[in-house]
Amino acid sequence: MTPYAFEYTRASSVDEALALLDGHDNAKLLAGGHSLIPAMKLRLSNPSMLIDVSGISELAQITASETAVHVGALATHRAVETSEIVQAKCGVLAEAAGGIGDPQVRNKGTIGGSLAHADPAADYPALVLALNAAIKVAGPSGTHLIPAHDFFLNLFKTALQDGEIITEVIFPALSARSGAAYAKFSNPASKYAVVGVAAWVEVDEHGMCTGARVGVTGAASHAFRASNVAFDLSGKHLTAETIAAAVAGMADAHEMLNDLSASSEYRAHLCSVMAQRALTEAAARAMG
Ligand SMILES: Cc1cc2nc3c(=O)[nH]c(=O)nc-3n(C[C@H](O)[C@H](O)[C@H](O)COP(=O)(O)OP(=O)(O)OC[C@H]3O[C@@H](n4cnc5c(N)ncnc54)[C@H](O)[C@@H]3O)c2cc1C
Repeated sequence: MTPYAFEYTRASSVDEALALLDGHDNAKLLAGGHSLIPAMKLRLSNPSMLIDVSGISELAQITASETAVHVGALATHRAVETSEIVQAKCGVLAEAAGGIGDPQVRNKGTIGGSLAHADPAADYPALVLALNAAIKVAGPSGTHLIPAHDFFLNLFKTALQDGEIITEVIFPALSARSGAAYAKFSNPASKYAVVGVAAWVEVDEHGMCTGARVGVTGAASHAFRASNVAFDLSGKHLTAETIAAAVAGMADAHEMLNDLSASSEYRAHLCSVMAQRALTEAAARAMG
C-alpha cells in the first residue's frame, strides 16, 4: 500500500514545530516513523502534512538530576538502552528498551513517539506507569506535566491535546531500597508485548513492602496500573507466597484483548505469570 499524498516539512526547534502544528489542521509530527509510516501506508492515518521533528537535537538528550532521569522525547530506544545514565539510575528502562522490536526499530523509534502513539502492545507504557514517570508536554499555552497514570486513555488515545508535543519523559530516581523489573511475553515476530508487566517495589529495613506499582501493557485496550496487586502487597514481606497470592486472578478476562496472538483468558493468565516474574525480580533488587 502507499499513503495518500502529503506535504513534508522539517522543524528545527520545538517552537517552530508548535507554530507549524498551529498552522495546519491535519498535520502530524514525524519522529522515528516506525509507527506512523506503516499506519500511513495502510491508510489508517492520513495526515496532509508531516512535520519532521527528528532533527531537533535538544529533544534527544538524556540527563540526570538529583531526583530524576530526564529522557528527551527523541531519544531512540537504542539511545535509552545504551545510556550510561539510564543504566546506572533506572536500569529496568534500559533493559526494556533493549527488548523492543529489532535493531532497525531500536535505532529509529523514539520514546516520545512510542508514548504518543500509545499502541496497546508497546513496552514503555508499562514502564512509565510502574516507575511513576511524568510526561512533559509543550503546547500553544506553554508546558505542563502529565502524570503517567493520567496519560493513556484508550486504544491509541492519550491525554495529549491537538497541537501538543512531548518534549521529555521524567523518571523519578529509584531510592536505595527500591527495585524494578520488566517481564514480557512477546510476539515472536514483532517483539511487541502480548502481555508485559513492569513492577516497582520499595521495602523498609525489615524487608516489609512500603510501596508497589505494577504497570501492565499488551493485555487491554490501553496500558493500566494493577492497583489491586500493589494494594495486596502493601505492608507485607515480599515472599514467593505473598507475591503469588497478590497476582492470582489479578486481571479480569472480560477486560482483556482477544486476538490472533492470544485469547482474553490466556492474556489474563499471562498477566499473573508476568507480574509474578517482574515482582519477584523487583523484590530481589530492592533487597539486594
Ligand atoms: C517491526 C516493528 C516492531 C516493533 N516492535 C515493538 C516492540 O517490541 N515494542 C514496542 O514498544 N514498540 C515496537 N514497535 C514500535 C516502535 O517502538 C515505534 O518506534 C514507536 O512506537 C513509535 O516511535 P517513533 O519514533 O517511530 O514514532 P513515529 O512513528 O514517528 O510517530 C508515532 C506517533 O507519535 C506522534 N509523535 C511522535 N513524536 C512525538 C512527540 N515528540 N510528541 C507528540 N507526538 C509525537 C506522531 O505524530 C505519530 O502520531 C515496533 C515497530 C515495528 C515497525
